[in-house]
Amino acid sequence: MDLDVIVVGAGHAGTEAAVAASRLGARVGLITAALETIGQMSCNPAIGGIAKGTVAREVDALGGIMGRATDLAMLQFRMLNRSKGPAVWAPRAQCDRGLYRRAVRSLLEAQPTLHTIQGTVARLLIDEEERRALGVETLEGRRFTSRCVVITAGTFLRGRIHIGTDTKLAGGRAGDAPAVHLAQQLEDLGLEVARFKTGTPPRVDGRSVDLTRLERQDSEVDAFDFTWSHFWPTPRRTAAGTRHPAQLPCWITYAGADVKRIIADNIDRSAMYGGAIASRGPRYCPSVEDKIVKFPDVERHQVFLEPEGHDTAELYVNGL
Ligand SMILES: Cc1cc2nc3c(=O)[nH]c(=O)nc-3n(C[C@H](O)[C@H](O)[C@H](O)COP(=O)(O)OP(=O)(O)OC[C@H]3O[C@@H](n4cnc5c(N)ncnc54)[C@H](O)[C@@H]3O)c2cc1C
Repeated sequence: MDLDVIVVGAGHAGTEAAVAASRLGARVGLITAALETIGQMSCNPAIGGIAKGTVAREVDALGGIMGRATDLAMLQFRMLNRSKGPAVWAPRAQCDRGLYRRAVRSLLEAQPTLHTIQGTVARLLIDEEERRALGVETLEGRRFTSRCVVITAGTFLRGRIHIGTDTKLAGGRAGDAPAVHLAQQLEDLGLEVARFKTGTPPRVDGRSVDLTRLERQDSEVDAFDFTWSHFWPTPRRTAAGTRHPAQLPCWITYAGADVKRIIADNIDRSAMYGGAIASRGPRYCPSVEDKIVKFPDVERHQVFLEPEGHDTAELYVNGL
């Protein structure tokens, strides 16, 4: 198959790259390990937040799909930093993980010149003399040629998962295989290959939580849309014909003295402090053990229990 642009990976970056190229009229092949995980959110199913909310709206203003998918999937919206000046207000939407994936996929499929292709890219096809990419080959040996290749492999290039100090698994993210061959080829080509790290909390079964003892936090959804596309002639609507799905509450609790003691007593079993991870490096979310070590005088740390979707009791424990 001959294409103008090949994009490797269908996370946030790859889907936006593919849509942007397709909107310019290019024939685009978006090749990703599993079509079912197009638009999969790796950690917290949220879009926006401090700084990131502004970026998400800029992506939308440039014609991206993230804002539209967010509005079709959001189950809780809040404007963070409202107590401060409007310049630092930060929109944040908690999304239904499944609805977000489906919204992204249908927005991609609305682009006539964009083809989604299932496959794991094992290597770039290279013109050795001109030192340029001619296309890609998948693990199964399928070849695709193109004028350019965009790699948006996220956390997958030789990804590794640490759970405590004893468990080390090869993985792009929980449940997904890493991209080992491509990482190896990039390194062999003389490109610097490094690994960043981040953390994610264990999820809890909402049926095990006594919600009556928690503080309820409702959505402010009426106040906001992530996308400007409702100004377009054909705005997208949910199946119910609304701009957003039904909203769900989040729940607030605290990691107090008991949690602090348990963590302090077991700190050497943490991947971060038990020696499994050597570098501290950049991270998106500070883990709870990091907060407790770095801020020992803080009596309690806020924890948000956030629904993962309309059709599941699973809760994301934001703050751990
Ligand atoms: C545990 C964890 C916690 C995180 N926490 C946060 C957070 O709190 N906040 C935050 O902003 N970010 C967080 N992230 C980072 C998160 O990965 C990024 O924000 C976001 O997902 C990056 O989007 P992306 O499109 O670059 O890559 P990804 O979403 O990782 O998507 C990469 C895509 O490429 C595909 N792919 C990779 N290699 C190949 C290949 N060789 N062939 C075919 N397909 C391939 C994958 O299947 C996947 O579809 C976290 C990540 C993890 C794993």
